[in-house]
Amino acid sequence: MLFAVLASYYEKLEATTKRLEMIDILSELFSKTPPELMDKVAYMTLGEVYPAYRGLELGVAEKLALKAVQRVSGARETTISQLYAQHGDVGSVALILLGQKAQTTLSFQELTVEYVYSSLEQIAKASGPGAQETKLAILSRILSQTSPVEAKHILRIVTGNMRLGVADMTILEALAKVFGGSKEEFERAYNLSSDIGLVAKTAALEGLNGIRDFRIRVGVPVRCMLAERLSTAEEILLKTDGRAFVEHKYDGERMQIHKSRETVLIFSRRQENITSQYPDVVSAVLSNIEADEAIMECEAVPVSLDTGEMLPFQELMHRRRKKEIEKAVEEYPITLYFFDLLYLDGRDLTNSTFLERRTALEKIVKPSETVKLSYGKLVTTPEDLDKLFNEAVELGCEGVIAKSVGEDSVYRAGARGWQWIKYKRDYRSEMIDTVDLVVVGAFHGRGRRTGRYGALLMASYDDERDVFQTVCKVGSGFKDEDLEYFTNLVNSNRLGHPSPRLETVLEADVWVDPRIVLEIIGAEITLSPTHTCAKDSIKAGHGLAIRFPRYTGRYRDDRKAEDATTSKEILEMYRRQLKRIEAKVSEER
Ligand code: ATP
Repeated sequence: MLFAVLASYYEKLEATTKRLEMIDILSELFSKTPPELMDKVAYMTLGEVYPAYRGLELGVAEKLALKAVQRVSGARETTISQLYAQHGDVGSVALILLGQKAQTTLSFQELTVEYVYSSLEQIAKASGPGAQETKLAILSRILSQTSPVEAKHILRIVTGNMRLGVADMTILEALAKVFGGSKEEFERAYNLSSDIGLVAKTAALEGLNGIRDFRIRVGVPVRCMLAERLSTAEEILLKTDGRAFVEHKYDGERMQIHKSRETVLIFSRRQENITSQYPDVVSAVLSNIEADEAIMECEAVPVSLDTGEMLPFQELMHRRRKKEIEKAVEEYPITLYFFDLLYLDGRDLTNSTFLERRTALEKIVKPSETVKLSYGKLVTTPEDLDKLFNEAVELGCEGVIAKSVGEDSVYRAGARGWQWIKYKRDYRSEMIDTVDLVVVGAFHGRGRRTGRYGALLMASYDDERDVFQTVCKVGSGFKDEDLEYFTNLVNSNRLGHPSPRLETVLEADVWVDPRIVLEIIGAEITLSPTHTCAKDSIKAGHGLAIRFPRYTGRYRDDRKAEDATTSKEILEMYRRQLKRIEAKVSEER
């Protein structure tokens, strides 16, 4: 398959503003792709070469990519920076400069998808001293062989910023369309393997049966089960049939740990391999987990060297610096609170009930300074639940998580459901919880903010329809350095039109590829004719909006856009807010 063919599909995807059209284009692409190339095409369409858990990234920053464009086009550095400032996208810069050059030297080679992919693999694998120069040399070589349009997309792949609006779920939907079966069946395979390429290739080689036969495996991260939220103990017990195992909700980093004899792998909430940041976790697991093979989940919480008390999760940032891990391990120790077990010595436990998993977990965890079981109790009354909640908050936890103990309390990979309900401490405003929203547009700043963006258009995620819906325009809570930072980030994710997966009534000055997730708190949720979040659910022609939104200072770079707060959750929050107001009014009467 020629790369030019793939690039022509990317052109079509870039041009469409409609989600359904996007699915059609992707389906056509997949039905034309030879089975052995399916995984590669799926990865590249997402701006990747491997699934995230392999921990091998292309590692090409925009700066390096621009250098390659300069090498091949012979353009001056100032021209390149000007064009980049104007377009905010390396691909567009290459399209212009290589396009100009192409008019004089028209000799492209016909590159195949295999060739481009294996060059990208070489880029990803280049490591050690001189790696940047090797990456630059390989990239320059491909760029000198391709047409400008192909170069544009290759650069977008290597910088991991495709600007096509395609996400994992979009690909799964297109696969279901090509190979039959439901979107849910494809989602299940993906949730168990976290590998979109493997799902695509299995579908192409083995058809729907292959997809239905997916199983969890040690070494391959399972997508996390997530919690819904509620704000009173009564509501929680109503949802869990009057009985729940209520655990402290620790505020740290979630880890999924895979142990296979002497090998330990640690995956993040986004299924990235973070083993190298936590050598202390590896040795703690080897000495304190009594199992040959296991997949476990825990929350890693930073603790004070002096007092042993829990510290804010931000202290884990020290583990991100590659060169100083040993120092960080000593200065910023952590405690692991184990809360789930998905696999044990040849047995897949994801279909076992919560209490069966917990009992098995208790048997293999040998508590120590670093390794602990999450604290929890079986609770049947709102009073006991609130007591546990208060104790948790006093200890420095965020609140509690109530886990259902019924027959259907299985581990639901990749799903946010009512099997787990989080109950967090109140914030001092009507809107009692923060939300994670996605930047989908930006507005030019005025006055002190001239030259930067003054406000961002934020959206929630409709996970049933895989679209983003606007819910507020946020301009407060940003420090000067945040404004600077987000202006640059917005510029490097700019789109020429609203994302095909965005539903908006408002017109932004600049449209942004939905990738940046920020934590927002507001005063309350109101009905609004100008926002599309949960549109028509409460009142025809109206969506929901967050009034007086403010950035909390927490940039959720640990999240994908699809992990943002869903429109359904905001709708639930709105309904609960109404109930609280009604209760207050009747109290006052
Ligand atoms: P948040 O941003 O509110 O922490 P989240 O979106 O990361 O939430 P949720 O589904 O809201 O995830 O809450 C579950 C998260 O809580 C888990 O991802 C995990 O990191 C954390 N957690 C802390 N303690 C526990 C526990 N005892 N059991 C399960 N999850 C826990």
